Amino acid sequence: MAIEKTFSIIKPNSTLDNNIGNVIAMFEKNGLRIAAAKFTHLSKEKAEGFYIEHKERPFFGELVDFMTSGPVMLMSLEGENAVMKNREIMGATNPAEAADGTVRKLYAKSIGENSVHGSDSAASAERELAYFFEKSDLVDRF
Ligand code: GDP
Repeated sequence: MAIEKTFSIIKPNSTLDNNIGNVIAMFEKNGLRIAAAKFTHLSKEKAEGFYIEHKERPFFGELVDFMTSGPVMLMSLEGENAVMKNREIMGATNPAEAADGTVRKLYAKSIGENSVHGSDSAASAERELAYFFEKSDLVDRF
């Protein structure tokens, strides 16, 4: 299986609840390696730009308010089949529907405050990593 990179965000509910280490441990236990990381507080402009595809959705304002309500951990994760593996580790968008043992089942508060973002395809991963990281920030771990 191919080694891939994917983009991950530990969202403000999880940084504020002090679950950064718990979430990263789940990635590492499942074979993903951190290949870039930045702990930061997103500006409104940066969060709006990231979620631009959801601009017309009724929850867009709420989503941007939440993503700027506290610090976030931005990461590149690398590993075999990393995009889909990360989505499995995260669980369903709505924690009420997330499988047992997933990040969202364990740590999400609601469909909005759902602990993590993960790219949904290799193409999204490339675009999202380029939105937050310089090429020189992105390390190869395999
Ligand atoms: P994801 O790929 O699993 O993160 O899900 P989506 O791409 O569908 O949605 C992006 C993000 O928007 C989700 O992770 C949630 O944080 C947020 N979101 C989605 N649906 C809702 C909703 O109904 N209400 C609120 N407040 N946020 C939502």
